[in-house]
Amino acid sequence: MNPFRHGLLAARTAAVMPHRQRQLATLSAEGNAPLSVLFYHRVADSHPNDWTIGCQRFRRQIDYCERYFELIDLAEMQLRMERGESRRPAVCLTFDDGYRDNSDFALPLLIQRRIPCTYFVCTANILNQTPFPHDEAAGQPLAVNSLEQIQAAADAGIEIGCHTKHHVDFSHVHDERTVRDEIIHAKSELENLIDRPVRYFAFPYGLPEHLTQVAVDAVIEAGFDGFCSGYGAYNLPGESPFHIRRFHGDPEMARFKNWLSFDSRKLRKNFSLDFRLPASRIPTLPVPTTMTPAFSVLG
Ligand SMILES: [Zn+2]
Repeated sequence: MNPFRHGLLAARTAAVMPHRQRQLATLSAEGNAPLSVLFYHRVADSHPNDWTIGCQRFRRQIDYCERYFELIDLAEMQLRMERGESRRPAVCLTFDDGYRDNSDFALPLLIQRRIPCTYFVCTANILNQTPFPHDEAAGQPLAVNSLEQIQAAADAGIEIGCHTKHHVDFSHVHDERTVRDEIIHAKSELENLIDRPVRYFAFPYGLPEHLTQVAVDAVIEAGFDGFCSGYGAYNLPGESPFHIRRFHGDPEMARFKNWLSFDSRKLRKNFSLDFRLPASRIPTLPVPTTMTPAFSVLG
């Protein structure tokens, strides 16, 4: 982004912060505090691209989240949605794909700070050590996590989630057998690999066109506690907790702050997609994993 536009964006975000702060306080008092789920892909200083954020920028974003929000896991967020009561703005962290570089900086940082995180991986890419289709298409076949790295992350408290076997684009895959294999079998395969239950699924690409009903049905049949999209929306108390809406951990700090401080103009993206969802699919062991009780003035 050019410096002029960057400055303009930062100034605009700073200008709306007092209003956003009052708005968040009001929503919190009403029990309607927004629940934000961020998704990242790759944290590294080499090979920059649209789905990579530099290490220091990432640390700055985590510092910001820790300072101003509760950091909770997906199960706790679902519980607040189901109860229809959210008394504090909260943030969940997620990662998609499973890039090797994340084990060098991002995951150790989160583990060291005991910040909840769900890390979605593709089993075939891990087992075969093959790059992701989007990286190959970009001529940049970046390294994926090894199975040992995923097991170590799980042992250290990172929740591992399912992101299909082969990073499938369900807008192009309609064969039911393939869809079920990439979701239902992927779940059991991943559970065997990490020797733990896998509770959540994240749709590759995550836009509305990728969330087909055949795939959603397979997610339900597989027994997941919920699935994540990634088209940019908030989670609000009272909404179905099975569909977890996420937005991008934008490397541009002004945009990042704008999203987190609850930009109500973006609520139009909270449209309810026409899925058949289970009435309730909430974990029975909602142990709160709140790490940061502080909620002070947004900066
Ligand atoms: Zn992905």
